[in-house]
Amino acid sequence: MLTRLETRPINVGGIQIGGQNKVIIQSMTNTKTKDVRATVKQILDLEAAGCEIVRVAILDIEDAKAIKEIKKQIHIPLVSDIHFNPDFAIEAIKNGTDKVRLNPGNIENEDKIKEIVQLCKERHLPIRIGINGGSLNKKYQHSEEAMIESAKDHLRILEKLDFHDVCLSFKSSDPIETINAYRLAANTFEYPLHLGVTEAGGLINSTIKSSVALGALMLEGIGDTIRVSISDDPVEEIKIAKKLLRTCNLKMDVPNLVSCPTCGRIQYDMLPIVKEMEDYLETVHKNITVAIMGCPVNGPQEAKRADIGVAGGKESAILFKKGEIVRTIPQADIIKVLKEEIQAFKG
Ligand code: SF4
Repeated sequence: MLTRLETRPINVGGIQIGGQNKVIIQSMTNTKTKDVRATVKQILDLEAAGCEIVRVAILDIEDAKAIKEIKKQIHIPLVSDIHFNPDFAIEAIKNGTDKVRLNPGNIENEDKIKEIVQLCKERHLPIRIGINGGSLNKKYQHSEEAMIESAKDHLRILEKLDFHDVCLSFKSSDPIETINAYRLAANTFEYPLHLGVTEAGGLINSTIKSSVALGALMLEGIGDTIRVSISDDPVEEIKIAKKLLRTCNLKMDVPNLVSCPTCGRIQYDMLPIVKEMEDYLETVHKNITVAIMGCPVNGPQEAKRADIGVAGGKESAILFKKGEIVRTIPQADIIKVLKEEIQAFKG
């Protein structure tokens, strides 16, 4: 397991961010927050997929008021995302939000900032300052350094009010700029870092950009919570986030699927089996490596570190464990046998 860079922990509705090895998975709803039914449904889907903290957009007072009812029906902490209007933040806090995302430097009314900070202090709620490379104040030149300076300006306002339950993000749509900004941030601030590449595109684009940026950072020990942004169903974000953490050895209760690309040696219909097992493994919470390989000659050897696997023969497959061949199973039984073996696997 990697050692994370030490950060000052915050508490979001009972979940700790920072100061530990665990990296928390977040997502954001794309429903109208005031549409309580739709928002709750999406949050419950996200919960089932493995989301640990959810964020909702607060665009008006109705959205802020809806938090009360939403909170009654969900089981994970809820973050309110607010731009500019302090009254929305105040209302969201009073209605039970677990954290606020807002940039205090964008709020002109100092008394309102004081009120938000006071309410957060009373309720032990943290604030995330979210710097986005594309929407920096005009007084800054666009650069990673400017993102850090912008965060310092927002932070100064909170620190002057002796408020330190803070989390920071430095998102850019460019993965390399994202990496550079977070590296600088890790060397500058003690606050936990919320990692993400913003406006990362659809499933394939975002998966690549997020894996490069967030993967590189997490392997350096940087990052306390992640959000993979995808122009798609947010449940997909959670699937990618879990696999990303697993690949970085930061979340071990996610199965690892090993499968070969297939070649001319293949003798059975392997690809539908891979597809079905990939979906099935989404529902499994075990540290297990499962291999699905194309041929019995190279399959077990190539996948010998897998806990359980199959390698196809003629309309059949051999079952192997840790690279040792166990028995042959007919093609029609491969999925059933694999599921049974995975269920029985104790680790
Ligand atoms: S395991 Fe067999 S079928 Fe799959 S790529 Fe390797 S040689 Fe080809």
